[in-house]
Amino acid sequence: MTSLDSQQSTPETGITEGGTGGAFRDVLSKRHSHRGKPPVHFADMTKEERIEAAKDMGLPKFRVNQLASHYYGHFNADVATFSDFPAAQREQAAEKFFPTLISEVTRQVADDGMTIKTLWNLFDNSKIESVLMRYPSRTTLCISSQVGCGMGCPFCATGKLGLTRNMSAGEIVEQVRVAAAMMERGEVAGGPGRLSNVVFMGMGEPMGNYKSIMSAVRQISALPPEGFGISARNITVSTVGVVPGIRKLAEEHIPVRLAVSLHAPSDELRDELVPMNRRFNTTQVLDAAHDYYLASKRRVSIEYALMRGINDQAEHARLLAKRLNHYGDDWAHVNPIPLNPIEGSKWTASKPEDERQFLDILHRAGIAATLRDTRGQDIDGACGQLAAKTKQAENR
Ligand code: SF4
Repeated sequence: MTSLDSQQSTPETGITEGGTGGAFRDVLSKRHSHRGKPPVHFADMTKEERIEAAKDMGLPKFRVNQLASHYYGHFNADVATFSDFPAAQREQAAEKFFPTLISEVTRQVADDGMTIKTLWNLFDNSKIESVLMRYPSRTTLCISSQVGCGMGCPFCATGKLGLTRNMSAGEIVEQVRVAAAMMERGEVAGGPGRLSNVVFMGMGEPMGNYKSIMSAVRQISALPPEGFGISARNITVSTVGVVPGIRKLAEEHIPVRLAVSLHAPSDELRDELVPMNRRFNTTQVLDAAHDYYLASKRRVSIEYALMRGINDQAEHARLLAKRLNHYGDDWAHVNPIPLNPIEGSKWTASKPEDERQFLDILHRAGIAATLRDTRGQDIDGACGQLAAKTKQAENR
């Protein structure tokens, strides 16, 4: 998988480049090669690099702090509006520090304006998406970390796209900056507010792009002017079960929540639904998830997409409860998610009575479980579906 810096022989996540014959499918789209790198942005630079770049423009260090205050403190990347910045150098600073990394292609609004899903175009015409969801007590942004995904889960629209490339830290952070600005301007129904939560559950496998997502986590959680000041406790990093990534995250000692997309309680079934399981099986994944809980003291979310007749029966719920209870009480929270079916696929959503039964069995076994609300059902809510549609349209 291309979390890998091409110069490194040992991938940071422990995943080797797969190809279709590997233990898991690591699909690269045909247009993967020779895309180049996204322009370097303020959010990609270290403090020293920013100071150096400013120096090249003849600007003193404090000008970098001003830029950071606008960017992180006011979610503003439009240097032309920075009235405290020398007018003669605004254009140059805009080019140097704030190249446009994401441009809106379409926006879909649902749930009476409380959900906004945006499709973004990147510098190389790649498409990614993010979803902003307002709830009574919080506003959550779901962001993408890769263009496509190489994990090949057969029920998933993003999986069908294959992996095009990793996103840069700047591209990831920009999704957050724009959403925070939208909230501040009151573009989401309910009036002006604050973006309070960020989840890495959009396109891609975050652990496959570890370095960039960790840079983004730091910039999201640091207080202004170093970051947006969204508490690390309100950030969720999801994974399909990349064990070395989970272990590395635990060593960071940043209290982000971990979400593991389990989707099946046994290796037999999970091998089919999540090809990565052939690399890291359910025991290895649950061991790592429980160790993360011990290290972080944060309850781990277990994501479980309910698919009709496949993984949603009583026997599956009982086995899931048994496997989680094996590690003790109250360390995990299960989020069964009604699958949002993709067009033309055999994988479809569970019957409501099966969803209820699944939850009941977990609850009776003492497992915390909440049916996850599927925001945006009426706007192609399945992860990656919007980007997949656009790509199909482009290919026509
Ligand atoms: S379900 Fe998640 S890990 Fe699997 S292909 Fe889709 S985006 Fe990738």
